[in-house]
Amino acid sequence: MSLEGLLDTTFDCECGRRHNVPVKRIIYSEDALERLPEVLSSIVSGRRIVLTADNRTWDIAGCNAEKILERAGWSTEHIIVPDIDHGNPVCNEKTYDWLSDKLPSADIALAVGSGVINDLTKWVAFDRDLPYAVFATAATMNGYTAANVAPTLKGVKSLIRTRPPIAVFAIPSMIVEAPFELTASGLGDTLAKPVSTADWIFNHIFFDEYFCRYCSEMINTLEPYYFDHPEDIKNRQPDAIEALFKALLYSGIAMTLVGTSAPASGGEHLLSHTLDMMTSVDGVAHDLHGRQVGLGTLFSSAIYDRIFRIEDTVIHASSSDIDTTFWGPLAESVSRQYEQKQPLLQILREKLTDGQAWRAFLDAGRDQVRPPDQIKHCLRTAGAAHTFKDIGCSHGRLRDAILHMHEIRKRPTVIDLAWILGILPGAADEIIDQWLTT
Ligand SMILES: [Zn+2]
Ligand SMILES: [Zn+2]
Repeated sequence: MSLEGLLDTTFDCECGRRHNVPVKRIIYSEDALERLPEVLSSIVSGRRIVLTADNRTWDIAGCNAEKILERAGWSTEHIIVPDIDHGNPVCNEKTYDWLSDKLPSADIALAVGSGVINDLTKWVAFDRDLPYAVFATAATMNGYTAANVAPTLKGVKSLIRTRPPIAVFAIPSMIVEAPFELTASGLGDTLAKPVSTADWIFNHIFFDEYFCRYCSEMINTLEPYYFDHPEDIKNRQPDAIEALFKALLYSGIAMTLVGTSAPASGGEHLLSHTLDMMTSVDGVAHDLHGRQVGLGTLFSSAIYDRIFRIEDTVIHASSSDIDTTFWGPLAESVSRQYEQKQPLLQILREKLTDGQAWRAFLDAGRDQVRPPDQIKHCLRTAGAAHTFKDIGCSHGRLRDAILHMHEIRKRPTVIDLAWILGILPGAADEIIDQWLTT
């Protein structure tokens, strides 16, 4: 089945589940704005719409979208989410409350923007039981079509289950011409897939986590466009940008079908989440999600490279406590996550002595993971972030994030495995020097 053919379908999958794709339409077309009234009318019956945007996305698309909808007989209202301290809006409880108070009654919400605007609108619309659609303005991350939103709550990067958009609109020339660091961020986010899939298989083999091969392979046909030709991303070649944008949309759909972020997020994402959380502790700015994930992916890939050389496992002692001094005010919630992981890590230590399980994991993992030199080449050639300086971070801060990132989530990843096998903490400096410095 073609990827477009998947939209708005329900099908029985080889994984044993019946999957339902709640996203009904993806309109990637130069006339996407003009088609808003027709497509939305085919999905919802009412004609009251509320548009959300930030200052920039209002100017480039929101304002025209409103005019076109009004001309077609829709009654419209709009809300512009203000910038904070001269920076982009953020998705946290404060902005949620602000938007929730302002949101008028409507038949549908239309988010015009990318990460934060999409997440905020999705979240508020879900709590109002309001359908929502998104007019995407950049290929920045794979959250558009995911059922989850990822707000920062009391300083902690969290995940809230909501509902994906019923339709996604985008104008190819707008996506192609978006500020380049946004596109490069989308590339970093999607390059994570080989390592996050290996982490998913790791959880499947050692902890019986549900695994769907179909969802894990959904974007495989799109990957060569950007993975094998990163220069096309740098040169804003329309076919490569379209492949990247669609890979982001369909990896979001894969997460929605599976019900977790496992198809697109593993240990590599922890680096980005940790850097974001460090910002809530000390106020030092972090970078875009996908740019940080690109570095996380390089790190994870270098860890896998070392793991694949281990034929006989030796278990090392690893701490069951978090570093409370490092986490400061976040220590309690971080500790709660890490505690929940401990029984699983104990199971892992036992199962690692089973040579058969280990070999099964090595075989499956080697099939998935791309070596660090390939990832490095791809990020560098595409003009994406690949060193700590690129993400505005010092050597020490990156090192701190790397050595604490396994503490923030209850789901085990390759990073926990690296601690148990004695690869970490020792290899952290070598990997930073070899892969993340120049
Ligand atoms: Zn499935
Ligand atoms: Zn991501």
